[in-house]
Amino acid sequence: MGIIVTKFGGTSVADAIQAKKTQEIIEADADRKFIVVSAPGKRFDADNKITDLLLLLFTHLEQNAPYEQIFQVVKDRFIDIERALGIDAGITAAFDVIEKKLKEGATKDYLASRGEYLSGRIFAALLGIDFIDAAGIVLFNEKGRFLSEETNAALAAELEKHERGVIPGFYGSLPNGEIKTFSRGGSDITGAIVARAISADVYENWTDVSGFLVADPRIVKNPKAIDQISYKELRELSYMGASVLHENAIYPARLAGIPINIRNTNAPTERGTFIVAGEKETEGRIITGIAGSKDFTVIAIYKNMMSSETGFIRRVLSIMEDYGIPIEHIPSGVDTVSIVIADKYLDDKLGDIIEDIERKTQADTVEVFEKMALIATVGSRMAARKGVSAKLFTALYEADVNVRMIDQGSSEMNIIIGVENNDFETAIRAIYDAFANE
Ligand code: ASP
Repeated sequence: MGIIVTKFGGTSVADAIQAKKTQEIIEADADRKFIVVSAPGKRFDADNKITDLLLLLFTHLEQNAPYEQIFQVVKDRFIDIERALGIDAGITAAFDVIEKKLKEGATKDYLASRGEYLSGRIFAALLGIDFIDAAGIVLFNEKGRFLSEETNAALAAELEKHERGVIPGFYGSLPNGEIKTFSRGGSDITGAIVARAISADVYENWTDVSGFLVADPRIVKNPKAIDQISYKELRELSYMGASVLHENAIYPARLAGIPINIRNTNAPTERGTFIVAGEKETEGRIITGIAGSKDFTVIAIYKNMMSSETGFIRRVLSIMEDYGIPIEHIPSGVDTVSIVIADKYLDDKLGDIIEDIERKTQADTVEVFEKMALIATVGSRMAARKGVSAKLFTALYEADVNVRMIDQGSSEMNIIIGVENNDFETAIRAIYDAFANE
Protein backbone atom coordinates (compact mmCIF):
# COMPACT_ATOMS: atom_id res chain seq x y z
CA MET A 1 0.00 0.00 0.00
CA GLY A 2 1.23 3.41 -0.90
CA ILE A 3 -0.13 6.76 -1.87
CA ILE A 4 -0.61 7.87 -5.44
CA VAL A 5 -1.55 11.43 -6.27
CA THR A 6 -3.37 11.53 -9.59
CA LYS A 7 -3.91 14.65 -11.60
CA PHE A 8 -6.32 14.72 -14.51
CA GLY A 9 -5.98 17.32 -17.25
CA GLY A 10 -8.72 19.18 -19.10
CA THR A 11 -9.44 16.55 -21.73
CA SER A 12 -9.79 13.84 -19.05
CA VAL A 13 -12.61 15.79 -17.41
CA ALA A 14 -14.09 17.46 -20.50
CA ASP A 15 -17.48 15.76 -20.34
CA ALA A 16 -19.37 12.91 -18.65
CA ILE A 17 -17.87 10.24 -20.94
CA GLN A 18 -14.35 11.32 -20.04
CA ALA A 19 -15.32 11.69 -16.38
CA LYS A 20 -16.45 8.04 -16.36
CA LYS A 21 -13.09 6.92 -17.76
CA THR A 22 -11.38 9.01 -15.10
CA GLN A 23 -13.53 7.46 -12.38
CA GLU A 24 -12.65 3.97 -13.61
CA ILE A 25 -8.95 4.76 -13.51
CA ILE A 26 -9.18 6.14 -9.97
CA GLU A 27 -11.22 3.22 -8.72
CA ALA A 28 -8.91 0.64 -10.29
CA ASP A 29 -6.25 1.30 -7.65
CA ALA A 30 -7.07 1.95 -3.98
CA ASP A 31 -3.74 3.78 -3.61
CA ARG A 32 -5.08 6.64 -5.74
CA LYS A 33 -6.12 8.60 -2.68
CA PHE A 34 -5.73 12.24 -3.65
CA ILE A 35 -7.08 13.48 -6.95
CA VAL A 36 -6.26 16.85 -8.52
CA VAL A 37 -8.44 18.03 -11.37
CA SER A 38 -8.27 20.62 -14.12
CA ALA A 39 -11.24 22.50 -15.51
CA PRO A 40 -13.03 20.77 -18.39
CA GLY A 41 -11.02 21.22 -21.58
CA LYS A 42 -11.89 20.71 -25.22
CA ARG A 43 -14.19 17.84 -26.21
CA PHE A 44 -13.26 18.27 -29.88
CA ASP A 45 -10.84 20.50 -31.81
CA ALA A 46 -13.13 23.47 -32.30
CA ASP A 47 -14.49 23.34 -28.75
CA ASN A 48 -13.71 25.87 -26.02
CA LYS A 49 -11.83 25.21 -22.82
CA ILE A 50 -13.83 26.27 -19.77
CA THR A 51 -10.92 28.41 -18.53
CA ASP A 52 -10.84 30.30 -21.84
CA LEU A 53 -14.58 30.95 -21.56
CA LEU A 54 -14.20 32.19 -17.99
CA LEU A 55 -11.43 34.56 -19.02
CA LEU A 56 -13.61 35.80 -21.87
CA LEU A 57 -16.40 36.31 -19.38
CA PHE A 58 -14.08 38.48 -17.33
CA THR A 59 -13.14 40.58 -20.38
CA HIS A 60 -16.82 41.21 -21.03
CA LEU A 61 -17.40 42.21 -17.43
CA GLU A 62 -14.41 44.52 -17.49
CA GLN A 63 -15.69 46.28 -20.56
CA ASN A 64 -19.28 46.41 -19.36
CA ALA A 65 -20.33 44.24 -22.29
CA PRO A 66 -23.14 41.69 -21.91
CA TYR A 67 -21.80 38.54 -20.30
CA GLU A 68 -24.97 36.52 -19.69
CA GLN A 69 -24.60 34.33 -22.76
CA ILE A 70 -21.06 33.19 -21.91
CA PHE A 71 -22.09 32.62 -18.30
CA GLN A 72 -24.92 30.40 -19.52
CA VAL A 73 -22.62 28.37 -21.82
CA VAL A 74 -20.27 27.66 -18.91
CA LYS A 75 -23.15 26.83 -16.58
CA ASP A 76 -24.78 24.52 -19.14
CA ARG A 77 -21.59 22.55 -19.58
CA PHE A 78 -21.31 21.82 -15.88
CA ILE A 79 -25.01 21.14 -15.44
CA ASP A 80 -24.85 18.71 -18.38
CA ILE A 81 -21.94 16.85 -16.83
CA GLU A 82 -23.63 16.68 -13.44
CA ARG A 83 -26.87 15.45 -14.96
CA ALA A 84 -25.27 12.89 -17.30
CA LEU A 85 -23.31 11.45 -14.37
CA GLY A 86 -26.49 11.21 -12.32
CA ILE A 87 -25.00 12.97 -9.30
CA ASP A 88 -25.82 15.97 -7.15
CA ALA A 89 -22.70 18.09 -6.84
CA GLY A 90 -24.59 21.28 -5.97
CA ILE A 91 -23.64 22.90 -9.26
CA THR A 92 -26.74 25.11 -9.58
CA ALA A 93 -26.24 26.57 -6.11
CA ALA A 94 -22.53 27.06 -6.83
CA PHE A 95 -23.40 29.07 -9.94
CA ASP A 96 -25.73 31.26 -7.87
CA VAL A 97 -22.77 32.11 -5.65
CA ILE A 98 -20.56 32.82 -8.66
CA GLU A 99 -23.20 35.05 -10.25
CA LYS A 100 -23.59 37.01 -7.05
CA LYS A 101 -19.83 37.51 -6.80
CA LEU A 102 -19.71 38.48 -10.43
CA LYS A 103 -22.22 41.26 -9.86
CA GLU A 104 -20.20 42.54 -6.92
CA GLY A 105 -17.10 42.73 -9.13
CA ALA A 106 -15.25 39.39 -9.15
CA THR A 107 -11.51 39.36 -9.89
CA LYS A 108 -10.02 37.78 -12.99
CA ASP A 109 -8.30 35.05 -10.98
CA TYR A 110 -11.46 34.24 -9.05
CA LEU A 111 -13.40 33.70 -12.26
CA ALA A 112 -10.58 31.80 -13.98
CA SER A 113 -10.36 29.43 -11.01
CA ARG A 114 -14.03 28.46 -11.00
CA GLY A 115 -13.51 25.83 -13.71
CA GLU A 116 -11.25 23.82 -11.42
CA TYR A 117 -13.44 24.54 -8.38
CA LEU A 118 -16.57 23.16 -10.05
CA SER A 119 -14.70 20.27 -11.62
CA GLY A 120 -13.44 19.39 -8.13
CA ARG A 121 -16.97 19.49 -6.74
CA ILE A 122 -18.19 17.17 -9.51
CA PHE A 123 -15.46 14.59 -8.92
CA ALA A 124 -15.82 14.65 -5.15
CA ALA A 125 -19.53 13.86 -5.57
CA LEU A 126 -18.90 11.25 -8.26
CA LEU A 127 -16.30 9.40 -6.22
CA GLY A 128 -18.08 9.96 -2.91
CA ILE A 129 -14.96 11.40 -1.28
CA ASP A 130 -14.04 14.75 0.35
CA PHE A 131 -13.78 18.00 -1.55
CA ILE A 132 -10.71 19.88 -0.31
CA ASP A 133 -10.70 23.48 -1.52
CA ALA A 134 -7.26 24.75 -2.53
CA ALA A 135 -7.99 28.26 -1.21
CA GLY A 136 -6.34 28.65 2.19
CA ILE A 137 -3.90 25.77 1.69
CA VAL A 138 -2.16 26.67 -1.58
CA LEU A 139 -0.62 29.95 -0.54
CA PHE A 140 0.71 33.04 -2.30
CA ASN A 141 2.15 36.18 -0.74
CA GLU A 142 0.55 39.62 -1.16
CA LYS A 143 2.59 40.17 -4.32
CA GLY A 144 1.21 36.97 -5.81
CA ARG A 145 4.39 34.92 -5.43
CA PHE A 146 3.83 31.25 -4.69
CA LEU A 147 4.91 30.29 -1.15
CA SER A 148 6.30 26.84 -1.60
CA GLU A 149 7.28 25.91 1.97
CA GLU A 150 4.26 27.50 3.65
CA THR A 151 2.01 25.68 1.19
CA ASN A 152 3.78 22.40 1.84
CA ALA A 153 3.12 22.74 5.57
CA ALA A 154 -0.50 23.90 5.19
CA LEU A 155 -1.30 21.19 2.65
CA ALA A 156 0.31 18.44 4.72
CA ALA A 157 -1.70 19.49 7.78
CA GLU A 158 -4.95 19.57 5.81
CA LEU A 159 -4.45 16.33 3.90
CA GLU A 160 -3.77 14.49 7.12
CA LYS A 161 -7.40 15.08 8.08
CA HIS A 162 -8.69 13.23 5.02
CA GLU A 163 -8.36 9.65 4.00
CA ARG A 164 -9.11 10.52 0.40
CA GLY A 165 -10.04 13.72 -1.39
CA VAL A 166 -10.35 15.80 -4.53
CA ILE A 167 -8.37 19.04 -4.73
CA PRO A 168 -9.04 21.52 -7.52
CA GLY A 169 -5.89 22.45 -9.43
CA PHE A 170 -4.60 25.78 -10.73
CA TYR A 171 -5.35 28.10 -7.82
CA GLY A 172 -4.82 29.02 -4.19
CA SER A 173 -5.22 32.21 -2.22
CA LEU A 174 -3.52 35.45 -1.19
CA PRO A 175 -3.07 36.42 2.48
CA ASN A 176 -6.33 38.45 2.30
CA GLY A 177 -8.21 35.35 1.16
CA GLU A 178 -8.62 36.42 -2.47
CA ILE A 179 -8.17 33.73 -5.09
CA LYS A 180 -4.88 33.65 -7.00
CA THR A 181 -4.12 31.34 -9.92
CA PHE A 182 -0.87 29.89 -11.23
CA SER A 183 -0.03 30.56 -14.88
CA ARG A 184 -1.97 28.65 -17.52
CA GLY A 185 -1.64 24.89 -17.30
CA GLY A 186 -1.00 25.31 -13.58
CA SER A 187 -3.03 22.33 -12.36
CA ASP A 188 0.12 20.31 -13.04
CA ILE A 189 1.81 22.37 -10.33
CA THR A 190 -0.99 21.70 -7.84
CA GLY A 191 -0.63 17.98 -8.52
CA ALA A 192 3.09 18.14 -7.83
CA ILE A 193 2.76 20.13 -4.61
CA VAL A 194 0.06 17.80 -3.33
CA ALA A 195 2.31 14.82 -4.12
CA ARG A 196 5.15 16.46 -2.21
CA ALA A 197 2.98 17.40 0.79
CA ILE A 198 1.65 13.86 1.23
CA SER A 199 5.00 12.23 0.34
CA ALA A 200 3.37 10.27 -2.44
CA ASP A 201 5.08 7.25 -3.95
CA VAL A 202 4.13 8.40 -7.44
CA TYR A 203 2.62 11.50 -8.98
CA GLU A 204 0.48 10.36 -11.89
CA ASN A 205 -0.33 13.00 -14.44
CA TRP A 206 -3.14 11.81 -16.72
CA THR A 207 -3.50 13.57 -20.02
CA ASP A 208 -4.43 12.67 -23.61
CA VAL A 209 -1.06 11.40 -24.81
CA SER A 210 0.80 8.28 -23.73
CA GLY A 211 3.69 10.20 -22.24
CA PHE A 212 6.57 11.94 -23.90
CA LEU A 213 7.55 10.91 -27.37
CA VAL A 214 11.12 10.70 -28.61
CA ALA A 215 10.32 13.33 -31.24
CA ASP A 216 7.45 15.59 -32.26
CA PRO A 217 4.78 13.42 -33.99
CA ARG A 218 4.04 16.29 -36.37
CA ILE A 219 7.56 15.82 -37.75
CA VAL A 220 8.35 12.14 -37.23
CA LYS A 221 5.70 9.54 -38.09
CA ASN A 222 4.70 7.39 -35.10
CA PRO A 223 7.68 8.23 -32.92
CA LYS A 224 8.43 5.88 -30.05
CA ALA A 225 7.37 6.83 -26.54
CA ILE A 226 9.98 7.56 -23.88
CA ASP A 227 9.67 4.97 -21.10
CA GLN A 228 11.88 6.73 -18.64
CA ILE A 229 13.46 10.16 -18.55
CA SER A 230 15.43 11.95 -15.85
CA TYR A 231 14.36 15.35 -14.52
CA LYS A 232 17.52 16.83 -16.03
CA GLU A 233 16.87 15.42 -19.47
CA LEU A 234 13.30 16.61 -19.29
CA ARG A 235 14.44 20.10 -18.43
CA GLU A 236 16.68 20.14 -21.52
CA LEU A 237 13.91 18.88 -23.77
CA SER A 238 11.23 21.23 -22.43
CA TYR A 239 13.60 24.13 -22.77
CA MET A 240 13.90 23.27 -26.43
CA GLY A 241 10.17 23.23 -27.00
CA ALA A 242 8.89 19.79 -26.00
CA SER A 243 5.89 20.28 -23.73
CA VAL A 244 3.45 18.00 -21.96
CA LEU A 245 3.85 19.17 -18.40
CA HIS A 246 3.98 22.67 -16.87
CA GLU A 247 7.64 23.46 -16.28
CA ASN A 248 7.11 24.50 -12.67
CA ALA A 249 5.50 21.17 -11.89
CA ILE A 250 8.83 19.42 -12.00
CA TYR A 251 10.47 21.27 -9.13
CA PRO A 252 8.29 20.11 -6.18
CA ALA A 253 8.34 16.48 -7.32
CA ARG A 254 12.07 16.60 -7.95
CA LEU A 255 12.68 18.17 -4.56
CA ALA A 256 10.86 15.31 -2.86
CA GLY A 257 12.29 12.67 -5.22
CA ILE A 258 8.81 11.60 -6.34
CA PRO A 259 8.64 10.02 -9.80
CA ILE A 260 6.11 11.53 -12.19
CA ASN A 261 4.22 9.16 -14.43
CA ILE A 262 2.62 10.75 -17.51
CA ARG A 263 -0.34 8.60 -18.62
CA ASN A 264 -3.13 8.62 -21.13
CA THR A 265 -6.76 8.59 -19.90
CA ASN A 266 -7.82 7.28 -23.30
CA ALA A 267 -5.30 4.39 -23.22
CA PRO A 268 -5.01 3.51 -19.53
CA THR A 269 -3.23 0.20 -20.08
CA GLU A 270 -0.18 1.95 -21.51
CA ARG A 271 2.61 2.60 -19.00
CA GLY A 272 3.34 6.11 -20.21
CA THR A 273 6.55 7.91 -19.34
CA PHE A 274 8.26 7.87 -15.95
CA ILE A 275 10.17 10.99 -14.99
CA VAL A 276 12.67 9.90 -12.38
CA ALA A 277 15.17 11.50 -10.08
CA GLY A 278 18.44 9.64 -10.37
CA GLU A 279 20.75 8.90 -13.21
CA LYS A 280 19.49 6.19 -15.45
CA GLU A 281 21.13 2.84 -15.85
CA THR A 282 23.60 2.72 -18.72
CA GLU A 283 21.75 0.04 -20.65
CA GLY A 284 19.07 1.08 -23.09
CA ARG A 285 18.49 3.68 -25.75
CA ILE A 286 21.29 6.21 -26.12
CA ILE A 287 19.02 9.01 -27.15
CA THR A 288 16.16 9.92 -24.85
CA GLY A 289 14.57 12.61 -26.95
CA ILE A 290 14.97 15.15 -29.72
CA ALA A 291 13.43 18.60 -29.56
CA GLY A 292 13.99 21.92 -31.14
CA SER A 293 12.57 25.15 -32.39
CA LYS A 294 12.89 27.52 -35.27
CA ASP A 295 13.61 31.21 -35.59
CA PHE A 296 16.93 32.05 -34.04
CA THR A 297 19.64 34.46 -35.13
CA VAL A 298 23.32 33.66 -34.76
CA ILE A 299 25.81 36.50 -34.50
CA ALA A 300 29.29 35.14 -35.24
CA ILE A 301 32.15 37.35 -34.10
CA TYR A 302 35.72 36.85 -35.28
CA LYS A 303 38.77 38.70 -33.99
CA ASN A 304 42.37 37.73 -34.50
CA MET A 305 43.98 36.83 -31.14
CA MET A 306 40.61 37.06 -29.37
CA SER A 307 41.64 34.14 -27.22
CA SER A 308 44.43 36.10 -25.57
CA GLU A 309 42.34 39.21 -24.96
CA THR A 310 40.74 39.44 -21.52
CA GLY A 311 37.14 40.52 -21.08
CA PHE A 312 36.15 40.02 -24.72
CA ILE A 313 33.17 37.78 -24.12
CA ARG A 314 32.12 39.89 -21.14
CA ARG A 315 31.98 42.96 -23.40
CA VAL A 316 29.79 41.11 -25.89
CA LEU A 317 27.52 39.82 -23.14
CA SER A 318 27.14 43.22 -21.55
CA ILE A 319 25.88 44.58 -24.87
CA MET A 320 23.17 41.91 -24.86
CA GLU A 321 22.38 42.78 -21.27
CA ASP A 322 22.04 46.46 -22.20
CA TYR A 323 19.41 45.47 -24.74
CA GLY A 324 17.72 43.16 -22.26
CA ILE A 325 18.19 40.17 -24.54
CA PRO A 326 18.59 36.67 -23.10
CA ILE A 327 21.14 34.45 -24.83
CA GLU A 328 20.38 30.86 -25.78
CA HIS A 329 23.90 29.59 -26.47
CA ILE A 330 27.44 30.82 -26.82
CA PRO A 331 29.44 28.36 -28.91
CA SER A 332 33.05 29.45 -29.21
CA GLY A 333 36.27 28.64 -31.06
CA VAL A 334 39.85 29.87 -30.73
CA ASP A 335 39.26 33.36 -32.10
CA THR A 336 35.51 33.22 -32.62
CA VAL A 337 32.48 33.41 -30.46
CA SER A 338 28.88 33.14 -31.58
CA ILE A 339 25.82 34.40 -29.81
CA VAL A 340 22.54 32.63 -30.44
CA ILE A 341 19.40 34.66 -29.80
CA ALA A 342 15.72 33.78 -30.20
CA ASP A 343 14.17 36.11 -32.78
CA LYS A 344 11.26 36.91 -30.49
CA TYR A 345 13.65 38.96 -28.33
CA LEU A 346 15.34 40.80 -31.19
CA ASP A 347 12.53 42.93 -32.64
CA ASP A 348 14.31 45.49 -34.78
CA LYS A 349 17.33 45.81 -32.52
CA LEU A 350 19.70 43.68 -34.63
CA GLY A 351 21.30 46.56 -36.59
CA ASP A 352 22.06 48.52 -33.42
CA ILE A 353 23.45 45.45 -31.67
CA ILE A 354 25.85 44.69 -34.53
CA GLU A 355 27.03 48.28 -34.56
CA ASP A 356 27.66 48.17 -30.81
CA ILE A 357 29.56 44.89 -31.06
CA GLU A 358 31.78 46.24 -33.84
CA ARG A 359 32.48 49.45 -31.96
CA LYS A 360 32.97 48.06 -28.45
CA THR A 361 34.97 44.93 -29.35
CA GLN A 362 36.87 46.06 -32.43
CA ALA A 363 36.02 42.70 -33.98
CA ASP A 364 37.51 41.87 -37.40
CA THR A 365 34.23 40.50 -38.72
CA VAL A 366 30.72 40.16 -37.41
CA GLU A 367 28.56 37.83 -39.44
CA VAL A 368 24.85 37.31 -38.98
CA PHE A 369 22.99 34.09 -39.79
CA GLU A 370 19.26 34.55 -39.70
CA LYS A 371 16.38 32.04 -39.91
CA MET A 372 18.21 29.40 -37.94
CA ALA A 373 16.73 26.50 -36.03
CA LEU A 374 18.17 24.77 -32.98
CA ILE A 375 17.84 21.06 -32.37
CA ALA A 376 18.80 19.36 -29.12
CA THR A 377 19.53 15.66 -29.04
CA VAL A 378 19.29 14.70 -25.40
CA GLY A 379 20.36 11.54 -23.62
CA SER A 380 22.30 11.03 -20.42
CA ARG A 381 23.85 7.84 -21.79
CA MET A 382 25.61 9.75 -24.56
CA ALA A 383 28.52 10.65 -22.31
CA ALA A 384 29.46 7.03 -21.76
CA ARG A 385 29.31 6.02 -25.41
CA LYS A 386 31.78 6.47 -28.21
CA GLY A 387 30.75 7.43 -31.69
CA VAL A 388 27.48 9.17 -30.82
CA SER A 389 28.36 12.45 -32.45
CA ALA A 390 29.97 10.68 -35.39
CA LYS A 391 26.69 8.89 -35.98
CA LEU A 392 24.64 12.04 -35.56
CA PHE A 393 26.71 14.10 -37.97
CA THR A 394 26.94 11.30 -40.51
CA ALA A 395 23.14 11.07 -40.49
CA LEU A 396 22.86 14.80 -41.05
CA TYR A 397 25.46 14.71 -43.80
CA GLU A 398 23.63 11.88 -45.54
CA ALA A 399 20.37 13.83 -45.29
CA ASP A 400 22.16 16.77 -46.96
CA VAL A 401 21.69 19.05 -43.95
CA ASN A 402 24.25 21.77 -43.49
CA VAL A 403 25.13 22.06 -39.79
CA ARG A 404 25.93 25.69 -39.05
CA MET A 405 26.60 25.51 -35.36
CA ILE A 406 27.42 22.86 -32.76
CA ASP A 407 27.24 23.17 -28.99
CA GLN A 408 27.71 20.35 -26.55
CA GLY A 409 26.90 21.09 -22.93
CA SER A 410 29.57 20.12 -20.41
CA SER A 411 27.27 17.47 -18.96
CA GLU A 412 27.61 15.66 -22.32
CA MET A 413 23.91 14.99 -22.08
CA ASN A 414 22.98 17.21 -24.92
CA ILE A 415 24.24 17.95 -28.42
CA ILE A 416 22.75 21.10 -29.85
CA ILE A 417 23.04 21.89 -33.51
CA GLY A 418 22.04 24.94 -35.49
CA VAL A 419 20.62 24.41 -38.97
CA GLU A 420 18.67 26.60 -41.33
CA ASN A 421 14.94 26.81 -40.61
CA ASN A 422 14.32 25.03 -43.93
CA ASP A 423 16.33 22.01 -42.84
CA PHE A 424 14.66 21.72 -39.42
CA GLU A 425 12.25 18.86 -40.12
CA THR A 426 14.71 16.93 -42.31
CA ALA A 427 17.36 17.14 -39.61
CA ILE A 428 15.04 15.90 -36.85
CA ARG A 429 13.92 12.95 -38.99
CA ALA A 430 17.53 12.08 -39.84
CA ILE A 431 18.57 12.08 -36.17
CA TYR A 432 15.52 10.09 -35.15
CA ASP A 433 16.11 7.45 -37.83
CA ALA A 434 19.76 7.14 -36.86
CA PHE A 435 19.05 6.45 -33.19
CA ALA A 436 15.47 5.27 -32.72
CA ASN A 437 16.22 1.62 -33.32
CA GLU A 438 19.22 1.43 -31.01
N1 ASP B 1 -7.53 25.22 -16.52
C1 ASP B 1 -6.26 25.88 -16.51
C2 ASP B 1 -5.82 26.18 -17.93
O1 ASP B 1 -6.55 25.90 -18.87
C3 ASP B 1 -5.23 25.16 -15.75
C4 ASP B 1 -4.98 23.73 -16.19
O2 ASP B 1 -5.80 23.12 -16.86
O3 ASP B 1 -3.91 23.21 -15.84
O4 ASP B 1 -4.77 26.73 -18.12
